Amino acid sequence: MSNENETRIAALRQAIALSPENHALRLMLAELLQTDGQIAAAVTEFDVLLQANSLDKGHLIPVGLLALQMDNLDVAERCLQTAVRVGLIEGIASLRTEIEARRAAQGFFRIAQPVGDAAPAMSNLDTLVDTAVIRFADVGSLEEVKKVIHKLIILPLLRPEVYQKYGRRSGGGVLMYGPPGCGKTMLARATAGECQLPFVNIRIEDILDPYLGVSERNLHAAFEYGRANAPCVLFIDELDAIAFARRKYTGSTGRALVDQILQELDAIGAENNNVLILAATNAPWDIDDALLRPGRFDRRLFVPPPDQPARQRILEIMVRDIPTSRLDLKQLSANTPLFSGADLRALVDAAVDQVIDEALVSENDPPLTMHHLQSALTAQRPTTLEWLDRAQNYVEFANQDKRYEEVEKFLRSKEFRKIVKPN
Ligand code: ADP
Repeated sequence: MSNENETRIAALRQAIALSPENHALRLMLAELLQTDGQIAAAVTEFDVLLQANSLDKGHLIPVGLLALQMDNLDVAERCLQTAVRVGLIEGIASLRTEIEARRAAQGFFRIAQPVGDAAPAMSNLDTLVDTAVIRFADVGSLEEVKKVIHKLIILPLLRPEVYQKYGRRSGGGVLMYGPPGCGKTMLARATAGECQLPFVNIRIEDILDPYLGVSERNLHAAFEYGRANAPCVLFIDELDAIAFARRKYTGSTGRALVDQILQELDAIGAENNNVLILAATNAPWDIDDALLRPGRFDRRLFVPPPDQPARQRILEIMVRDIPTSRLDLKQLSANTPLFSGADLRALVDAAVDQVIDEALVSENDPPLTMHHLQSALTAQRPTTLEWLDRAQNYVEFANQDKRYEEVEKFLRSKEFRKIVKPN
């Protein structure tokens, strides 16, 4: 450690001891420790910020990687979870893969006997069934996507004889992709609601397990559960995490999971047993090509950020059950370009929080007004921009087979260009 760094680090530590909530000072300390090569100590300080929700987006992946350098998987995992929660795209898949690989390696060395059947598989399968029923009408707009789902999933279920007569197999899954928070999960849940079928929701945290072979067994158990509950809609969220492109792996960890999901999809396809498969991803470019072949996820749907009328419709749905006064949702929707449904949800929630604060100190029930929404809007930014920025690269450099044609159309649309390049 240089003398100068030593003095600054000591001074910063002293200042933080007096004012532990001063996050700006702690960030300076963490960065200085890192520059000085004191990585473990830097990770500890970054983690304090992370746990106080004060580590900004840009630091999450680098700090996750730094923590991995120190074999601190807990901090790396926390960085990953926060990054997923705030809608980060770049770097998520590789951080997750690296954490998985480390955990698997640890598990492998920690367990003396062969893991195989002895390893615990997912135990409470009933938590996979989501009981909250929603319908297409609860999902604002997205009419085009709903139409395609109706044709691809719902009609073959309701009118199987027509499809059989013409030798058209149903089967195969539908993969929805697009920026986070734009309604993919909602659409999947609403598809089950429209068909009046159980909704089996395979979440990534239910599947991935640090112990060798357990993730594959969990995945198998989840598909078995789907089969046992057929007919049903089986939904795989964050497909990229399960089916991360094999070409991007350096080790063998994770490849087994890709092979497992291929086997499961092929088995469901062959059985034709009315397990309707939907999946979603924010990172379609990370998905192994083998999953996109016929009979697997050969139908892909872009779920775009809502346009202005769609945002208005989504806002109308969001405020329909609360007391309001003279809302101009057309104006609000015009002032929220590129906001995802989740961004609009956050906006409405923040505005409603203000109303609740007022209600707590007032005799009567104050309604939600434009004033609340406008004031909440000053603190909200659209989270879809980062995704669209990333997608732009794929459209430019990896769209030879027109895989991202719909995204390309969106990026060329007047509405998008008006926002990104207003003049
Ligand atoms: P995704 O799966 O695309 O990441 P979700 O379907 O989980 O997004 O949406 C996140 C939240 O955003 C939903 O729970 C809902 O509150 C809101 N939301 C997103 N899209 C819509 C929509 N089209 N209509 C109504 N609410 C929406």
